[in-house]
Amino acid sequence: MELAINGETKLAGLVGGDTITQSFSPMMHTASFKEVGVNAVYLSLPIEMDQLKEVVAGLKDIAVGYNVTMPFKTYICEYMDELSPAAKLMGAVNTVEIRDGKCIGHNTDGAGFVENIKNVGFDPKGKIATVIGAGGAGSAVFTQLALEQVEEIYVYNIKDSFWDSTEKRVAQLAEHTGVKVSLHDLNNRDELKESIFVSDLLVNATKVGSGELEGQSSIDEEMLHECLVVADTVYKPLETKLIKMAKDYGLVTAGGVGMLLQQAALAEKIWFGTDMPVAYIEKKFLLIIRV
Ligand code: NAD
Repeated sequence: MELAINGETKLAGLVGGDTITQSFSPMMHTASFKEVGVNAVYLSLPIEMDQLKEVVAGLKDIAVGYNVTMPFKTYICEYMDELSPAAKLMGAVNTVEIRDGKCIGHNTDGAGFVENIKNVGFDPKGKIATVIGAGGAGSAVFTQLALEQVEEIYVYNIKDSFWDSTEKRVAQLAEHTGVKVSLHDLNNRDELKESIFVSDLLVNATKVGSGELEGQSSIDEEMLHECLVVADTVYKPLETKLIKMAKDYGLVTAGGVGMLLQQAALAEKIWFGTDMPVAYIEKKFLLIIRV
């Protein structure tokens, strides 16, 4: 369907920092709107931290909703009128819905991740997971896994700026869901190996494997075992070192691109009530991401 801007065209977009220009979201949503016949545009909206409050207030009057990316996912929470239960527990928002003059903060990263692992045949309920990474993606992943009633989650992170807030988040999550959730130092390799050994699911939700860390993996091949499903949140490259290693080992894997598509589909459902044509967008998207 031809996308023609007219007086009825709605505004959606992506609010983020200066790395926003590298995002695939504008291409993905624009292609989807065109295919489904949604009369909307999806724009990249790069801003500075000190503009965030004003931008949230301004968009409230003119947009249907928007996505939020680094570095604003946590900071934007305080400007929302309401938070979904998942966004509240994660302490991060990636999708804003504007309804009846209110900003409602959602987080579709975690649900998109779970949808992606279910698509490769892994139902997390009652399982044990090791999640490496406790930043925006990692906390969305382990929170959603707890909401899906996994049995136990071992969260690993380096002792960086995410560590202190994660200690509190993990304790709150365990109390809220009744799921055993514990935080461990990623540099304790023996402990990491033991956690992976008893786990059904291993997730990389760090930046390791992408950008300057492309070609690297947070785990060593000897930590894999034959009962493990391995997932990555990184989608560029399409196949990280971790996913390649797991595939070579003969394991079921779920790459980050599936999560990206699923979180986008959930956002479109929230804004317009429409179903993103995921398979069609994936095909188009893979052509773009490979170049
Ligand atoms: P973030 O900045 O919030 O968190 C970064 C994480 O990486 C933290 O856990 C940090 O401790 C860890 N980290 C950074 N450098 C490290 C190193 N050298 N060694 C070990 N750990 C290190 O970023 P984020 O939003 O959580 O994104 C993490 C990754 O997930 C990125 O590659 C991002 O593109 C991807 N992501 C994918 C999706 C998707 O839909 N597939 C969604 C969100 C994020």
